[in-house]
Amino acid sequence: MTAVPITDIKGVGTALSLKLAKLGIHSLQDLLFHLPIRYQDRTRIRSLGSLQIGEEVLIEGELKLSDVVMGRRRSLLCRLQDGTGQITLRFFHFNAAQKNALRPGVRLRAFGEVRPGGAGLEMVHPEYQVMSSGQTLAAPDQALTPVYPMTEGLTQVRMRNLVRQALAQLSSHDLPDYLPESLRQSRALPELQSALRYLHQPPPNADQQALLAGRHPAQRRLALEELLAHHLSLSRVRQQIQQQGSWAMPEAPELSQTFLQQLPFELTAAQQRVIAEIQQDLQRPIPMLRLVQGDVGSGKTLVAALAAVQVIAAGYQVAVMAPTEILAEQHYQNFSQWFATLNVDVAWLAGKVKGKQRKHQLEQIASGEAAVVVGTHALFQEEVAFARLALVVIDEQHRFGVHQRLSLREKGADGIRAPHQLIMTATPIPRTLTMSAYADLDCSIIDELPPGRTPVNTLVIADTRREEVIERVKQACTQGRQAYWVCTLIEESEALQCQAAEVTAANLSEQLPNLRIGLVHGRMKPAEKAAVMAEFKSANIDLLVATTVIEVGVDVPNASLMIIENPERLGLAQLHQLRGRVGRGSVESFCVLMYHPPLSKQGRERLAVMRETTDGFRIAEKDLQLRGPGEVLGTRQTGMMQFRIADLERDADLLSEVHLIAQPLHQHPKRVEALINRWMGSSESYAQV
Ligand code: ADP
Ligand code: MG
Repeated sequence: MTAVPITDIKGVGTALSLKLAKLGIHSLQDLLFHLPIRYQDRTRIRSLGSLQIGEEVLIEGELKLSDVVMGRRRSLLCRLQDGTGQITLRFFHFNAAQKNALRPGVRLRAFGEVRPGGAGLEMVHPEYQVMSSGQTLAAPDQALTPVYPMTEGLTQVRMRNLVRQALAQLSSHDLPDYLPESLRQSRALPELQSALRYLHQPPPNADQQALLAGRHPAQRRLALEELLAHHLSLSRVRQQIQQQGSWAMPEAPELSQTFLQQLPFELTAAQQRVIAEIQQDLQRPIPMLRLVQGDVGSGKTLVAALAAVQVIAAGYQVAVMAPTEILAEQHYQNFSQWFATLNVDVAWLAGKVKGKQRKHQLEQIASGEAAVVVGTHALFQEEVAFARLALVVIDEQHRFGVHQRLSLREKGADGIRAPHQLIMTATPIPRTLTMSAYADLDCSIIDELPPGRTPVNTLVIADTRREEVIERVKQACTQGRQAYWVCTLIEESEALQCQAAEVTAANLSEQLPNLRIGLVHGRMKPAEKAAVMAEFKSANIDLLVATTVIEVGVDVPNASLMIIENPERLGLAQLHQLRGRVGRGSVESFCVLMYHPPLSKQGRERLAVMRETTDGFRIAEKDLQLRGPGEVLGTRQTGMMQFRIADLERDADLLSEVHLIAQPLHQHPKRVEALINRWMGSSESYAQV
């Protein structure tokens, strides 16, 4: 079934199969897993007196009146009665033959949506059948009529026919049920084939509300199986990697001590706990696969640096990768400074490192002279060869494509062993998501900020009060503070966003002639960006106008004010990240969310969350509720969290059971294999984030 191409169905040629491909339907199984979004009820004829506006119904009666009226648009109006009530059928398009057939006295069956009309209820362009005198029509349908998600050039009727054929072709040994019998029974879940049949052809008495909400046992069953397959696939990836083995590296208490002594502060308890977890992992000859979650400013970089210390002490190399040059460069600065004390060389590799300098860095990496290598995705390029790579640190993991993560994994392999992996993310991920999206990773959480931070005060203000806001910027900067002014995305266009930032910077320069105003945006060359950031960092710029490029990694403790224009355009997680750029010093900081009224109800709710809390996890939970998992994980593009049937929010309760169900299944590798194939097919390698 997985492999049976859709063209095996009679009448499916190239043109149709291309249209189906747009819906992700390539095989017979895909077709059967393409579930209806809702249903129509053509199983019973409704009395005209019982109709409600908005219902789609099957009706039958006698035409009492049939008239062409001129009104605003010429239309044919027919009045249908059945003894309990009446309804008007309205046609804007009709030909002479139709008009003739729809004459008073004929009996008619019709299907359509009930709408309010000029004189009582109406149905516009219903599907209909005229009964000639004495004739009775066939009984109504035996099952509810499915309505499928559609693409252009395909009709519901066509789709229903295809599915009907596929169901007819389904034999008992197709699509075997891999869920343990006992599980199905204890949870009253239908068997796979009957679940599919039910969902494509539900009986007249099916609970349509449950079906619409995706909570019918037949749907739950499929969602559970899909989540299970996803989980199994991630565990398998984990197993495969761990089978490769890795380098066991003893703890390095002395070097760690020397490293820590140079710091002007103590580690937080949370940092210590997470570091201890990592140090344990590194001592085992199995690749570490660990995700460190910590809010913005929680000090993840140091945790990574201490992991690096242990690896370096054992004589191996560490690669640290960041998603942007600005962030990578900042890591490079931190690491070179910290490791200089230990006489450890740090290499730096980004797209902009070119020519002789690049050649030199590559040599350092290849010879192993550089024990730490910091960079962007440039680290993945083929020309980069590591001498003894044993630890890969990935910052802000969700921005990287899966392939990038995998290719770095390969760099370290000596053909046998895999490097340890530490993944750091500042986007707090709700627990339910961690369990599914990161089932292949162990998870550590830094749930504490370094002391001495004052929480950021957040104000939500309409942009009609722009003048006041500008005045506020002036005051802060006159007092020696610095500020950010963030321009957000307009219509998904980076070019427009940059343009808007340029205009804003120009206007602000006019309005605030005494301030030194800088500008960074995504269309500037990396070197230009870095130069502006450096100026801001050394306080030669008072006000930095920026697009959302400053989101990650900029650390300027003297910046105590951030204005975000049109915050309603951004996700909560992104706002949280941005806001994390202020409140890094000891002065009281402010974040002004300057929205453009009117705000939608959801918009108000979202900004209120930002005002009420600075807890990244609470914000993430809310974000998940309001926007869904794809957005929260930032993985929409990579396609990894795209489930066919499951919905991480709706089916959250199933997630916690999935790993319990998965346990005993591991004894049946064939089943596991089959389940993964059924649900993930060839896309499994994409699921390894
Ligand atoms: P993030 O988790 O957002 O990556 P960073 O690692 O950039 O956070 O740390 C933010 C700032 O906090 C840096 O300036 C860092 O030097 C500082 N920092 C880290 N750990 C501590 C600590 N235990 N006490 C005080 N400051 C710390
Ligand atoms: Mg960081």
